[in-house]
Amino acid sequence: MKEGGLFDIIISVTEMKRTVGDGKNAVEYELTRKRVKNINLRIARDGAVKVSAPPFSPLPLIDAFVLKHADFIKKGRERAASSPSAAPKLDAESRAELLLAMTRHCKEIYPLVKGVKKLFPEIKVRAMRSRWGSCAVKKGTVTFSTMLYGKDERLRRYVAAHELCHLAVPNHSRAFWALLLEIVPDAKELRRKLNEKSELPIDNSSER
Ligand SMILES: [Zn+2]
Repeated sequence: MKEGGLFDIIISVTEMKRTVGDGKNAVEYELTRKRVKNINLRIARDGAVKVSAPPFSPLPLIDAFVLKHADFIKKGRERAASSPSAAPKLDAESRAELLLAMTRHCKEIYPLVKGVKKLFPEIKVRAMRSRWGSCAVKKGTVTFSTMLYGKDERLRRYVAAHELCHLAVPNHSRAFWALLLEIVPDAKELRRKLNEKSELPIDNSSER
């Protein structure tokens, strides 16, 4: 038997999930022990953090390695989340159908948005995986994710209203929610429904 043959088999099944850091900065990663020389870290397409480490690398050392690369991980995960390949690519017909439906919602909602100082925005549909919609207030563009294709009309209308309300209030403040709830009284329930199966934020306005 080749040296280390059995050993390789044993260590290749030694996988575990670990979490380092705390609160907002906590990072969960999957550790695999391998016959590698150095600790390696990569971000999978789904945003998972995969770490491989030599068989006897002490755990504190691996944790420290992961923590040291927190910025790299954050950027990699953001990239993975917004990767167009990860969201459904619609054929031209379905895309046009979704664009039409979202434009119709926006046209109905726009006159209801109190305090809107912007002209009716340009409506776009894009393969976004990280967000249901986004609103570029300065550019006057509202973009919806192709993931909304086939979703319930009430949910789509909610996302449209949410983005259009950002034309009046750019953040997720109390004023924003008051405005949105006037147009969509069950907004909070719809928001919960929309995020039930995924952890997607509606958009990133709270971080702006
Ligand atoms: Zn928002």
